Amino acid sequence: MKKIIVAIDGHSSCGKSTMAKELAAYAHYTYVDTGAMYRAVSLYGIRQGWITEQHINVEALEAHLSEIHIGFQVSTDGKQYTTLNGENVEQQIRTLEVANGASRVSTLGFVRRALVHQQQQMGIEKGIVMDGRDIGTVVFPNAELKVFVTASAQVRAQRRYNELKAKGDVVNFDEVLANVIERDERDSNRAESPLRMAPDAKLLDNSNLTKVEQFEMLKAWFIEAVK
Ligand code: C5P
Repeated sequence: MKKIIVAIDGHSSCGKSTMAKELAAYAHYTYVDTGAMYRAVSLYGIRQGWITEQHINVEALEAHLSEIHIGFQVSTDGKQYTTLNGENVEQQIRTLEVANGASRVSTLGFVRRALVHQQQQMGIEKGIVMDGRDIGTVVFPNAELKVFVTASAQVRAQRRYNELKAKGDVVNFDEVLANVIERDERDSNRAESPLRMAPDAKLLDNSNLTKVEQFEMLKAWFIEAVK
């Protein structure tokens, strides 16, 4: 069976990473969460004081970007986690504050160029499932299978809210919904690689699908693509 590149793009909190991880496990492929990479840059900037709610110190971020080393490791229980300069930051990058910073740093061309380059290197040998916003349009325009995932903002906010609550975070639904809408706006309207569905991508709207149903669709497309 040939090895392919699977590009999964779509709106925030639409369950992309869950299905991408599931497909990678099924196919014995490498999974790359590119959102985690933008989140790691955001976390680094927040820790250095370069990213606040009001402002980003773009000059400092650009001057020190090469000091930010992002990687993925697998823990003993088989779960993948993100590293920032060797530190496991998987938990720290999942907060709303970091998500917001990620959405803002992802509008900067120099950040995108550096991360896109790293992502392209990761896919050289194929056998990869990568999820993000620009994988099928910019990172791997020649990917053999492209999927664009979406769901209504209400449905996505509800899922995100449930996740954060289950983790014990104190959250307010309206705040989560506002965050989802704000990130959609920024992702779709930024000048650098705005979120777009590639013309040759398959659309997966999972507003009314169960996780099992959506995975069945994805699996069928994958089996067709590797034939
Ligand atoms: O997917 P996730 O929500 O973790 O991504 C965090 C942020 O990183 C998104 O809001 C988006 O702005 C940005 N991102 C991006 N391009 C990617 C992946 C994520 O701009 N390929």
